Amino acid sequence: MACNALVSPQLPTRVIDVGSVDEPRCVLVDSTGRVGAYVALSHCWGSPGTVPKTTKATLSQHKQCIPDSVLSNTFRHAVEITRGLGFAYVWIDVRTNGRDVLNLDDPEDWAFEAAKMRTVYSESAITLAAASAADGKGGCYHNRSSGEEFEYPNTSDSRQSIRVRLPVDHAFFDALSAGVQAHKSVERFPLATRKWVFQERMLSPRVLYFTKHELAWECRTEVACECGGADCLATPHDTGYSLAMPKTSFPLANSSAPDISAQAALLERWAILAEEYTSRSLTYPTDALVALSGVARAFDAAGLGAYYAGMWEHGLPLDLSWETVYQPDLHTAESQTEYIAPSWSWVSSRTRVAYPRPKNLAERTRRLQYCCTDIIRITSIPAKTDPFGHVLEYESRLEISAPALCLSVTGVGVDMPDIDLFGWPAQHFAADSNACPTHLVADEVWIACLERRRPEGQNARGNRTGCSLVLEELNGGIFRRVGLIMPWITHDDGGFGEAVEAAPRKTFRII
Ligand SMILES: [Zn+2]
Repeated sequence: MACNALVSPQLPTRVIDVGSVDEPRCVLVDSTGRVGAYVALSHCWGSPGTVPKTTKATLSQHKQCIPDSVLSNTFRHAVEITRGLGFAYVWIDVRTNGRDVLNLDDPEDWAFEAAKMRTVYSESAITLAAASAADGKGGCYHNRSSGEEFEYPNTSDSRQSIRVRLPVDHAFFDALSAGVQAHKSVERFPLATRKWVFQERMLSPRVLYFTKHELAWECRTEVACECGGADCLATPHDTGYSLAMPKTSFPLANSSAPDISAQAALLERWAILAEEYTSRSLTYPTDALVALSGVARAFDAAGLGAYYAGMWEHGLPLDLSWETVYQPDLHTAESQTEYIAPSWSWVSSRTRVAYPRPKNLAERTRRLQYCCTDIIRITSIPAKTDPFGHVLEYESRLEISAPALCLSVTGVGVDMPDIDLFGWPAQHFAADSNACPTHLVADEVWIACLERRRPEGQNARGNRTGCSLVLEELNGGIFRRVGLIMPWITHDDGGFGEAVEAAPRKTFRII
């Protein structure tokens, strides 16, 4: 997918007119109906109060002139760079930076602008990423070591010099790509670890990163940096994943309905995206669906069916088989109660999730033959107007039918990902959100079989076979997913697998 030529799209609702190098200005413009090439900014907000904001009270003043004193370093640098690159407009989320600001000022305006995020980033000419700034003070420019100069005599005995520097640290790129545990790089690469920034990067056709060490470039065909060391990052790692992959494998907005194998590839892409997204964090975990909505919109045109809070119709029921990655240092005693998303959606996880691999067409087809969960009904009701945004807790339900066993919990592994069930101790268990559900001990759970075991030899290399949802009954016959059980990795589970598969079918309404 080549990068589109620069176009002059409709400008976002409000942009800053930066003038030019010869005639600099800094004015907020209401750009309704106007077209032009513009630059977008991707940055970390930092704590509320440290970000400049345009409120209803200052809106008219900022339309005359935005005083330098209200601009943070990052914003000031973005204005200068935009001008220097020869663009007249920069889009900075001046109204939507920081939730406190939004809630106090105009929550409806926030919801409206957030829903338009996809267009803002995907139609920008270029996105400037303040990659090493934890907040507005950090800015885009950094003091770099210019290296050491050494003098030496040459053959004609005149003196010459050579400049030497240490190799550039490219860990930033690793932090951007998959498999990075966000909490480990949050201090070094604040921008790479934020969920909001994830979609800004995905949607932008071109990103210019201002890192501590150098400038780097990423578009749909190229990854490059000043020192040249990023070239190797654009080729797939041994995991089959490359830094350039997120953009190159992104669906085109106008793709027609894909054939069944293209659909499998897109669903695999969505699964990788789920893994990447959940390895990042949010200041407000309840924004998880909203901060994903722009990417979801981009996939919406790709023919995956209806969208349900992070899940695609055509990916079900197999895509219910996400599991959390066990992270001992992030392991908590109990899950928190704030509602993020339905428990059946991976978006509800507060920590990194993983999907079984591979997800290619052949493997999907094989897995479907052994899938024994039927989807009866699924609904997700948007909390606001955006169908891709936050959803209502009790209205967003999944109804399934599956073979299921009710068992009492005799213990949960505090230091290990396992669960003891009456008669079947130490079953391999991934607790949702990586949270140890100690409240279930001495209580009962339902084990709903998602996939039956496959015979030896039909199992993809390194992949598991069979898995079950672990469901906790709430009041009124409503259930909540608490984890995924994978008892059949070794086929030596003391008959647990047979017992679950042979259990009578039961219908569950899961929120
Ligand atoms: Zn480099």
